[in-house]
Amino acid sequence: MSETKEAFFVNNPETGTIGVIGLGNMGLGMARTLLRDGFSVIGFDLSAERQAEAALAGATIVASVSELYAACKTVILSLPTANHVRMVLTGDAGLTSCDIDGRLVIDTTTSEPDVTREIDGVLRGLGHILIDAPVSGGPAGANSGQLTMMVGGDDADVARAMPVLETLGGKITHVGPVGAGHAVKIVNNMLVASHLLTMSEAVRLGNAAGVTTENLIAALNAGSGRSAISEVNYPKWVMNGAFDSGFTMGLMRKDVRLAMALARDKAVALPVCELAGQIWAASAELLADDADFNRITECDPTHAGVKS
Ligand code: NAD
Repeated sequence: MSETKEAFFVNNPETGTIGVIGLGNMGLGMARTLLRDGFSVIGFDLSAERQAEAALAGATIVASVSELYAACKTVILSLPTANHVRMVLTGDAGLTSCDIDGRLVIDTTTSEPDVTREIDGVLRGLGHILIDAPVSGGPAGANSGQLTMMVGGDDADVARAMPVLETLGGKITHVGPVGAGHAVKIVNNMLVASHLLTMSEAVRLGNAAGVTTENLIAALNAGSGRSAISEVNYPKWVMNGAFDSGFTMGLMRKDVRLAMALARDKAVALPVCELAGQIWAASAELLADDADFNRITECDPTHAGVKS
């Protein structure tokens, strides 16, 4: 344990217990990492199966989010969408309805910057702190404490969260005020979504020109055309047919929708990414929400859903 973290425990023993709401592919991995690093974890998820897995890992499971808020000064959220975040924070049984103050909420959900800023205003008025710390690195990164974190929040608030962020993240970048982390994550995933499509086109072209996918990837990864998609996704999840990354088509389609909405809201023209967005949206007819997101590489790019 680092000196910062040790000081965090020694000086503030009550901050050694962390709440985790949402124990899915990412949240469960984060809970495991926190437990391994010496934190106690109190967890909540709507799914009995996820609750059981977290309990097996050593977390204490509570029956409601209000119980969790009462017991934890620091709470991590790992939920599907901004609506879920809104519900557990400002909904009927959410944090705002609890008669407590001074909670630090770290939202690792890939959420919406405007919603995050709106919720921040409400929580701040009640004496709570919100920072957005969306992540990249998948379930493997969550389980190993090697996530990339894109953090939005005031300097002092981010400093308060740092002992927890350092446990979860290998690379932590403070990118601006509240909401900035969610904006960066949306931009990141817009690139991942586009790169998956351009890489699948590159493979089709290389194959048509007589080069095997293996040889093409080996050469590209030593050249300037490489990306995380050619270096990680193709070898790990596409070429071997595994398609078991732990990130779904449904969640990626959500992220692409958010990127397109952000571009419209800010009046930024993105002709290339807009086309990628149309292909991702059209993929809903071919690939179920729970399919692995790397399956997009198998989609026909001339799919009828794409506008000419
Ligand atoms: P997931 O669907 O596996 O997990 C979400 C969990 O939230 C589920 O277990 C669900 O039961 C629970 N949940 C839903 N509503 C709830 C509520 N009201 N209260 C408590 N629990 C509730 O999703 P995931 O893959 O773990 O992703 C979580 C977030 O992280 C998403 O926003 C996603 O976009 C983002 N993300 C995922 C990955 C990845 O590789 N899986 C990578 C980076 C970011």
